Amino acid sequence: MSKKSIVVVGAGILGLWQAYVLARAGNRVRLVEESTEPFARSSSRWAAAMIAPECEAEGAPPIVRDLGHEGLALWRAMYPGLVANGTLVVAPARDAADLARFARMTDQHEIADAARIAALEPDLSGRFERGLYYSGEAHVDAIKAMNWLLTEIRALGVEVDLGQTWQPRGEDVTIDCRGIGSKANLPSLRGVRGERILIQSRDVTLSRPIRLLHPRQPIYVVPHSEGRFVVGASVIEREDDGPITLKSALDLLGSAYALHPAFGEASILDIGAGIRPSFPDNVPRIIVEDDGRMIRVNGAYRHGFLLAPVLAKAVVTYVSDGRIESPLFGHA
Ligand SMILES: Cc1cc2nc3c(=O)[nH]c(=O)nc-3n(C[C@H](O)[C@H](O)[C@H](O)COP(=O)(O)OP(=O)(O)OC[C@H]3O[C@@H](n4cnc5c(N)ncnc54)[C@H](O)[C@@H]3O)c2cc1C
Repeated sequence: MSKKSIVVVGAGILGLWQAYVLARAGNRVRLVEESTEPFARSSSRWAAAMIAPECEAEGAPPIVRDLGHEGLALWRAMYPGLVANGTLVVAPARDAADLARFARMTDQHEIADAARIAALEPDLSGRFERGLYYSGEAHVDAIKAMNWLLTEIRALGVEVDLGQTWQPRGEDVTIDCRGIGSKANLPSLRGVRGERILIQSRDVTLSRPIRLLHPRQPIYVVPHSEGRFVVGASVIEREDDGPITLKSALDLLGSAYALHPAFGEASILDIGAGIRPSFPDNVPRIIVEDDGRMIRVNGAYRHGFLLAPVLAKAVVTYVSDGRIESPLFGHA
């Protein structure tokens, strides 16, 4: 197994995991990021960062579920900040059909009645008759997880160049993780807008991500430390990370309020939108060019946190001894 000099371009969640795993394998790694402030221009900073392979299976191809379970196991093995309290999916009684459909599309859940919901989430006691509990799922705080990776990477001796656009320095291998910034090299890549609001409440306590089903506006509410909650929903086919509309904000906040009226007193800390880099089938790819000297890792869509460790493991195996062991290797 030969050690290489490698430059990873882009410090979003994909680039951070690549740099981490490649450096742990003994390679000499440099990480280049064009924003001076870490994560400021990344799509990753907006993520709810649910590591939820089963719940995502409701709308994703089977490969995402299968590899997502591997991603979850890798997070569990590597990251001490993983919150492994599962996911709870609920719906108002009138939307029972949505809950039944969600159950059919996914596995590894338990049907939760009102008493079980109250035991899992006391603050939701009496609010929902039926739900689905996915005890094996997890989530992270996106910024905390990325800061942890950056600290680990530096401790492993990776040179981190912030505020730099990438200039080759004759490294053996370049790993391109520029997200939507790679569009010129990956013409089929598109941006899919996702909007989210960060709120803070002293009145509501939740232990795990809650997905509230609704025929038009399903949302998720993901709890973080200090009473902060990420409220998000939308998958909008638009490559625009501009401010969110009043209608979107009303929909998101209205749904949070429907989940628990005490959210009405929450403070709004941040509102914004990110662009999810996506290929036409919404499955990420590892694209090898120039006899292995250029490796592009991109298209993580809604699954960058879920699949970043899997993509990193596949690339380190290829860089180490040329083995292609992952179905994610392909063409743009
Ligand atoms: C609202 C929302 C919620 C989400 N929730 C989840 C979730 O719950 N679970 C999940 O798994 N995923 C989730 N995602 C998806 C996830 O965030 C993305 O899949 C992921 O962020 C993509 O990461 P990336 O590293 O490919 O790109 P990015 O995070 O965009 O990183 C690319 C980096 O490259 C840098 N760059 C670009 N050009 C250059 C250059 N020339 N030189 C140097 N640096 C450059 C950019 O500045 C940027 O920092 C969500 C996304 C959104 C928007």
